[in-house]
Amino acid sequence: MKYEELLPHQIEKILEEAPVAYIPWGALEWHGRHLAIGNDAIKAAAICERVADRTGGVVLPPVYFGYQTMKRKGFRHTLEIKEAPVRALAYDLLRGLESEDFKVVVILTGHYGSRHLAALKGVGEKFGKGKEIRVWVLAEYEVVTDLGYTGDHAAKWETSILMHLRPDLVDMGQLSADLDEKLEGVGGDDPREHASPEVGQKIVEAIVERMAKRVTNLLQGKEEEEAREA
Ligand SMILES: [Zn+2]
Repeated sequence: MKYEELLPHQIEKILEEAPVAYIPWGALEWHGRHLAIGNDAIKAAAICERVADRTGGVVLPPVYFGYQTMKRKGFRHTLEIKEAPVRALAYDLLRGLESEDFKVVVILTGHYGSRHLAALKGVGEKFGKGKEIRVWVLAEYEVVTDLGYTGDHAAKWETSILMHLRPDLVDMGQLSADLDEKLEGVGGDDPREHASPEVGQKIVEAIVERMAKRVTNLLQGKEEEEAREA
């Protein structure tokens, strides 16, 4: 359920049944000539919506403003945001959701420059410390590294995922068919050889299933129980 589309009585029901909020995060960043600029947030929002279909809860509007982007390497059409506003926005959203009585907040960032990711994780950890609210900040690949996805940039994995989620936002015809020609601003296995909607579907299904499982545990307080027993 998209938070912005809900009426008060619907939010109140969700808070009673499954008080979890998802914040999809991304950037407006060059992703090769073949993927949409907003890939990271589009990907994160679609994954959050699928996880929320299983766990209940609300999905906030995606945040398209990321830190540590390809702008630093000179790639065009990228809008770089400083670390401070990214941290401040994450903090204010957490504070607002806590005051609304959400018990679990998941920040899923599809943009995972190491310092951007560390900034969000830092805010989440600090915010959640010693409180009842559980904050989980992750990049989507973190739950499926055993399946070979450890994060890439507009390469095999990100291309496959968008091919699955939003094929209308992928245009492989923009890339040279000459495989010896190096792709601009693409990091990882060559998407011309390795990307497919099938690869995308498989990894998205695994991400959704594993995230839903942990969120359900967090909602039921299972991790606290296990920690007490250990
Ligand atoms: Zn990306």
